[in-house]
Amino acid sequence: MKYDRVYNFSAGPSILPVEVLESVRDNLLNYEGSGMCVMEMSHRSKVFQQIIDDAEANLRDLMGIPENYKVMFIQGGATLQFAMLPMNLMKNGVADYIVTGNWSKKAYNEAKKYGKINLVATSDDRNYSYIPDCSDLPISEDADYVYICENETIHGTTYQQLPNTKGKILVSDQSSMFLSKPCNVSDYGVIYGGVQKNIGPAGMVIVIMREDLIREDLPTYVPTYMSYATHANNGSMYNTPNCWSIYVCGEVFKYLKRIGGLEAMARLNEEKAKILYDFLDQSKMFHGTVDKEFRSLMNVPFVTASKETDAEVVAATKAAGFDNLKGHKSVGGLRASIYNAMPKEGVAALVDFLKKYEEEHYQG
Ligand SMILES: *Cc1c(COP(=O)(O)O)cnc(C)c1O
Repeated sequence: MKYDRVYNFSAGPSILPVEVLESVRDNLLNYEGSGMCVMEMSHRSKVFQQIIDDAEANLRDLMGIPENYKVMFIQGGATLQFAMLPMNLMKNGVADYIVTGNWSKKAYNEAKKYGKINLVATSDDRNYSYIPDCSDLPISEDADYVYICENETIHGTTYQQLPNTKGKILVSDQSSMFLSKPCNVSDYGVIYGGVQKNIGPAGMVIVIMREDLIREDLPTYVPTYMSYATHANNGSMYNTPNCWSIYVCGEVFKYLKRIGGLEAMARLNEEKAKILYDFLDQSKMFHGTVDKEFRSLMNVPFVTASKETDAEVVAATKAAGFDNLKGHKSVGGLRASIYNAMPKEGVAALVDFLKKYEEEHYQG
């Protein structure tokens, strides 16, 4: 492969488009005639203001974000949002959570510090291998919001249909599916995601929040930095932002527009996932761990009959130039994260390898 790169199936930080990395490289020492690298640049400079303005405008364009939603670039990862969301959204001190895997469970446990949190649905009875029916949940009358993780990165599940929140605000962690397909932003009160899964360099989260949910009258214990108003009122530059991540994410947004936007991206992601799932569905040696209906387009966990064989396959894939396929310990086996930037050839090459491996090693 070009530049001796491997096919990188990491769940995060993860693969980025080669043409974005090339453009970053070409501009590394002198960004578009500014005479300096974006890493060296004042965030108060005109050049950087243009970078962040363009990034926001291109993201708005890609997702069709309505005018009455704010876009914020915030540090602290998706994990900080587990606390920031309840701190900011709780008026009644009540929220309903749907727990479908490690990430929504973490968010649920963190939120409990700040109010009365109801677990309205979970799939923990079968190790989070499906999404529960969310069409008629016992939504609390006084719930300030309903929370989901829309794509569980570790368990490899995704919602086919958003929950019926019975009029309550929906908050969604989209970290590992951000920009993987079109999204109707107005179905949500808040969409957020860490960028290192599907968009750019680690260390930043993008929060898309309906304006009327941003409050100035927060409890005094809420740190200034953890109030959304602080970020919204200061164009994400109350303090020094993650300039580098904003820049590279902005380049990825331009790239996505060039290839035809989120519809084109979704078509490609479906084709890629089909190659892998079709293989798993007919394989005698490798088995997907998720109920078919809820399989993620981005994170594909699968197992063999034993831990020993799993480990042997992981080692063999690595030796053959496919990296980061070891599954998370809570599912075991293997996991292929096939984010936006993974080329179709990468998935096809992995399937060819696994097919051959099965032919040579499977003993029934
Ligand atoms: C990775 C991940 C997180 C945590 O992200 P950090 O940036 O490491 O805090 C949260 N939610 C989901 C769905 C993730 O995939």
